[in-house]
Amino acid sequence: MLDTTALERVDSYVGGRCLPPSGGIYSDKINPRTGVPLKRVAQSNLEDLVQAADAADVAQQAWRDLRPFERGRILVEVGRVIRLHGERLGQIESEETGKPAHEMPALIDLTAQFFEFYGGIVNAMDGEVINQGPHYHVYTRRDPFGVIGVILPWNAPLHQAARAIAPALAAGNGVVAKPSEFTPGSLVTLARLAVEKAGLPPGLFNVVVGRGTVIGPAMVEHPAIQKISLTGSVRAGRELGKLAADRILPLTLELGGKSANIVFDDCDLDAAARGSVWAFTWNSGQWCAAGTRLLVQENIHDPFVEKFVAEVAKLRVGPEDDATSGPITTRAQYEKIRSYFDIAEKEGLTCAIGGKALSGGRFGDGWYVAPTVYTGVSNHDLLAREEIFGPVVVVIPFKDEADAIRIANDSDFGLSAGIWSRDIGRVHRVAARLDAGRIVVNEYGGGFVQTPCGGFRQSGYGREQGIEALGHYSQLKSVIIRL
Ligand code: NAD
Repeated sequence: MLDTTALERVDSYVGGRCLPPSGGIYSDKINPRTGVPLKRVAQSNLEDLVQAADAADVAQQAWRDLRPFERGRILVEVGRVIRLHGERLGQIESEETGKPAHEMPALIDLTAQFFEFYGGIVNAMDGEVINQGPHYHVYTRRDPFGVIGVILPWNAPLHQAARAIAPALAAGNGVVAKPSEFTPGSLVTLARLAVEKAGLPPGLFNVVVGRGTVIGPAMVEHPAIQKISLTGSVRAGRELGKLAADRILPLTLELGGKSANIVFDDCDLDAAARGSVWAFTWNSGQWCAAGTRLLVQENIHDPFVEKFVAEVAKLRVGPEDDATSGPITTRAQYEKIRSYFDIAEKEGLTCAIGGKALSGGRFGDGWYVAPTVYTGVSNHDLLAREEIFGPVVVVIPFKDEADAIRIANDSDFGLSAGIWSRDIGRVHRVAARLDAGRIVVNEYGGGFVQTPCGGFRQSGYGREQGIEALGHYSQLKSVIIRL
């Protein structure tokens, strides 16, 4: 058995310094590329969370009173420092998640953009004057909540952290962030850089490394924490929501998805085939908005599926820096994906390609799965209902526009949806009727820093990204003055 005590440790960052867990407990972080321990990760407890929330509470008192341009200037500087140290941040994130290195520059750029964007637009975050005649002066203002708890998943750690933390800070709040216990390293490094290089006041932005089931409930209990943003599974959202209800604590919940990607017969079939492969395989399918229900119009079904599967066959999964996708980030997730291969086999689904784990040879003991396409699937089948969070897509035929909308909306989720069509009227009609927080047409991308992101139905509520998020991290107040 390997002695892991000498491995690098990832501790919390609280009050502008590294904070080892007060209970002294660490767990092994396993390298998803090799299955071998990589680091030791702190398992912080309630006491550590209290220190972080207290530090944020103190630091926030002065931060909230800065003029917006002063807060904004520091956030823009955080963006610059992220770019300057992007290579190091990218290395940590690639190592912990298993993402191919070539994907990191784009993700680092997005992470920096969030700080630059919110650092800029906070200058325009004003209230308004409401005219009530000569005897009143009435206006609104946007006040911060206090301290925001930010709970994060492992699939795109820095990107998801930045999109919540940057607007929360811009609006005048302090932050206690809890990265996933599987990928904490890059966010701890970002917080250190923000404080030690970009001039963010110590204590304003803290990172507590630990388990969600310990830190989440502790966040709900702490009186300084006035709002929590959670990006994660429906299960975690539900558990946190029940606890938060006792304190009427507001939440932003960014949860799972089972997004429909609809291919109409009038589209550019080659572009749709390529884009639909990216839709379900980017990040090895560990993507909340992944297009994992591929709805294909009946009259083009067979030729389209042939093109699509041929594109899937070109992918190269592996540990290499230039692989099209890497391993699954956690062992539990790897096992979960494999369990769906077994279900598909038992249910007699037709596997057009993939349907298995990849091991041995260049895959070693890493957690790799083959990009997988099941055809002739009904929207009622389990694989069409549940979020798998891996590179697995089900192909579902449909007759016409109405049928496509009906199938797409028949889901517990509503995070994203794709439309492939050259008919502009159809595009707008269908976009208007789809129950999803983001509709992407003639490509299947992740949107922009400036576009709001969030879900319908069990995909969550509240919106991250865009100008909208500033509203979510501030509270509107009316001031009514009798003159
Ligand atoms: P997860 O729910 O297991 O964990 C997410 C975070 O919540 C982690 O930090 C975890 O420690 C914490 N957590 C777990 N249980 C908790 C509890 N009871 N109370 C408070 N916190 C708790 O999710 P994951 O496996 O890390 O990530 C995958 C999930 O995240 C998928 O469902 C995916 O769709 C979703 N996701 C959503 C978005 C979005 O924008 N909607 C983005 C990325 C990922």
